[in-house]
This record gives sequence, structure tokens and C-alpha cells, in this order.
Amino acid sequence: MNPLPVLNEGPPGVPFGDAPLMLESIPALQDEVRALAAERGAVILAHNYQLPEIQDVADYVGDSLGLSQRAAASEDETIVFCGVHFMAETASILCPDTTVLLPDLDAGCSLADSITAAQLRDWKAKHPAAIVVMYVNTTAAVKAETDYCCTSANAVPVVEHIRREHGDDVEILFGPDMFLGAYVEKTLGIRMHVWDGECHVHAGIRPGDISRVRAEHPGADFLIHPECGCSTSVMEYVAAGDIDSDGVHMLSTGGMLRYAREHQGGTAIVATETGMLHPLRRAAPDVDFIAANEAASCRYMKMITLPKVRDALRDGRPEVKVDADLATRARLPIERMVAIS
Ligand code: SF4
Repeated sequence: MNPLPVLNEGPPGVPFGDAPLMLESIPALQDEVRALAAERGAVILAHNYQLPEIQDVADYVGDSLGLSQRAAASEDETIVFCGVHFMAETASILCPDTTVLLPDLDAGCSLADSITAAQLRDWKAKHPAAIVVMYVNTTAAVKAETDYCCTSANAVPVVEHIRREHGDDVEILFGPDMFLGAYVEKTLGIRMHVWDGECHVHAGIRPGDISRVRAEHPGADFLIHPECGCSTSVMEYVAAGDIDSDGVHMLSTGGMLRYAREHQGGTAIVATETGMLHPLRRAAPDVDFIAANEAASCRYMKMITLPKVRDALRDGRPEVKVDADLATRARLPIERMVAIS
């Protein structure tokens, strides 16, 4: 792909690359990003945990499943994926003929990094009859070794489906999120083999923090957004009784936005990565959305900056491309998940 010419050198102070972004530079940069996207025939997809100025310039903002579905339906020449590496890989798996750009290739995921394809192959070798269920937060190489993918929203139905198909005694290898695995076990009253991976962000959302914030805001609703691995721990705390379940709403991204639109005034404490607060506050400016912990921020998501998005659009790189054979194998567990959901 040929680099596009720089459309706009921008006013003084508009940064390039990793230079610090000044608030007053944002509108000019957003204009430049939109112009470059139009010129390249690119759609900009952004995860809910992206920086606000990136969410505001995107064509579509959503959770990882929503972004995958939007990517799969894309007829654009290029997708600029504002999220983390495994998500861009998933877009490449679902749209093999589309150029997928990830503005920073170092935007990884601590949960996806907690299991490699080699580790999964070793685990499978110890349990040759087992069915493998992996959270979508995994690399393409791990998906290629997987029978079913799942998200936090459909993990229980996926495991129920497997038990219906293969019998209640079926052995299941579930990973890499140990909190989601424990949640599924408690909800269904079953035992699985669960990998002990986790997302680093959940460490910022502990039961003690949650109880303290809830005590400071009596009567506030408590919303859990079990997207990514950052708040599956909170699902598990509720299932285990470590958190009072009164006033708890477990909501997908769509459910959260519906909640925001249907409420006027009041306070809601939200257990999620803090980026999700931006679309919620935009959808319902008069509801006071409070983070269960302001420190629950994914450093990988925040590696994508507006100057990097602009540079990716201008230069047509860096690209994420999953090898065709690997993509064929990795597509199967995603398609099985989608068929069940
Ligand atoms: S919030 Fe956690 S699970 Fe989600 S991308 Fe960041 S590190 Fe990965």
C-alpha cells in the first residue's frame, strides 16, 4: 500500500508520532484523521476503552464482539482498528481481503499474553478428549487450537451448548481468564479445567474498593460491564457472595447505553475499565457515573493515540495480517460461538 501524502501539516502545535497531545490540537487532528480516512476509503473502529478523542473520531465504537461483527460486515478497503492486537487479528481473520491497520503494534493484552499456542497444545495433550473453550481475548495462534471461542456475555451458553452436545461428563479446558472460568463453574455448578490467566486491570477493581465506593453513595445502582477481562473478577465476586448483589446490574455495552438513555439523574457506580465512562456520560449527561476505581485503566488500550491514528492512515501501516491457513483454523471457533449467541 502506498503512503498517502500529508494532507495537512497542521497548525503549529499539532504533534506527530509520540509527541504529547495538547488539548487545543485535538480538533485539527480529528479533522486531519477524517480527511485521511475518506481519502484512503477507511473505516475507523474503536473499542469502548479507547481515549475519548479517539472514540469521538471513530465511525463505530463498541465492545470486542460488536467490533468483530462490524469488521465482518465491512466493505471498506481499510479498517483502522483502535483497540488491541488480538482484536485487530480477529478483524483480519474475519475480513482476509481487507487491510487492517493497528496504529501501535505494541498495544497487546495481558490476558491474551497469559496463554501461548504451545502452552495450549501441551494442556490439550494432557487432556486429549477435552473440548477447548477460549475467551476471545486470545491470539490467532491460540484460537487456531480452540474448539469454541466465548465472550463474558456468552460463556455460560457456550458451555451449556457443549454439555448438551457432548454430555454432562465432557471434559472442558477453559481459558485463559480464571475469573470467567470460576464464574461459569459457579453459575452452572460444574467443574472444568481452568487456566489461571488474568487481565492486569481487574487488580484495580477489588471487592474492598467496591464496598467502600458503594458505602459512599448509598442508593446508587451498581453496574458491572463484563467486557474484556477487566471486570470478570467482579462477576465472580458477586457469584461468590463477596459483593452485596442488591442493585447490581450485569450489562453488556448495549445494555449499559440503554440504561444510560432510560435514566434521568441519579448515580451509578460502574465496574469497568474507565474508558467506558465516556460513552455513558455522553449518552446520559445528567446521570452521575462514578468509576468503581479510577485507576482501572488498560495501558494497552491507551497506547493508541490520535497522532498514531493519523500516522497509520497517512502511511498505510502498521498492518496486522493473519496468515491464511492460520486464519482458516482460527475462524472456526469464532463462527461456532456466533452460531450459539
Ligand atoms: S482491559 Fe485487560 S483484557 Fe482488556 S485489553 Fe486491556 S489487558 Fe486485555
